[in-house]
Amino acid sequence: MSRRAFVFDLFHTLANPEDYRPRDFDRIEQASAAVGLDPAVVKSHWLANLHLVATSRIEPVDVLRELCDAAGISAAERQFAAADTAIGRFQDDALRQPIPGSVDTLDALRNAGWLIGLLSNAHVRDIKAWDESPLDPLIDVAHFSCYQGVAKPDLTAYTQILAELEVAPEEAVFVGDGGSNELAGANAAGFGHVVLMAGPALDSGFRTQEDVDLLAEDATAVINSVRDLPALSERISAGMR
Ligand SMILES: [Mg+2]
Repeated sequence: MSRRAFVFDLFHTLANPEDYRPRDFDRIEQASAAVGLDPAVVKSHWLANLHLVATSRIEPVDVLRELCDAAGISAAERQFAAADTAIGRFQDDALRQPIPGSVDTLDALRNAGWLIGLLSNAHVRDIKAWDESPLDPLIDVAHFSCYQGVAKPDLTAYTQILAELEVAPEEAVFVGDGGSNELAGANAAGFGHVVLMAGPALDSGFRTQEDVDLLAEDATAVINSVRDLPALSERISAGMR
């Protein structure tokens, strides 16, 4: 049998910060308030620099330090620590305790002979608790955009992980909630199957049904739960070598 793999997105696919984040908790607002910055200024700067922060080892809290310097605000270290916590605490929670069924499903796929890849767009603070995640030991190759220097939907993000997994694109299945146009990117990279994981983002109010319907246009299958994957993988196997 040729080598084959599932390549997963991380947030809102295997681990959902919205399971922990109160609906009215805006991390940029909270982090801005912690150091005395205007949230509107931080938000526009954040959006303008999102790609840079996601494809480098820049600590988000250091972006706030620079903004404080520029604004002549002198915040204390404990304020920066509070901002850092606001930025990452619910990602930490989600990594330590991923979506129920994620661990069992990855186990089942591995036992069925699939390699498991992880392809995540994340800044360094988002994945600070990765080493504490029960997902970590179940992943053969994990690529995070902040360490790889490239983010989905850039074709290179997909070709790099497939090369490291030593899996041909047509023998690979991409699974994600559709953020960052990742499903279109997986199609462009030639993945054999592209699966939209709709449930977590939809159920937590992170996306609307209209968002999901639009994203589904880039998918070969739509599932609501990670628990749907073992059955889907069997159908895929029946059609694959
Ligand atoms: Mg995602």
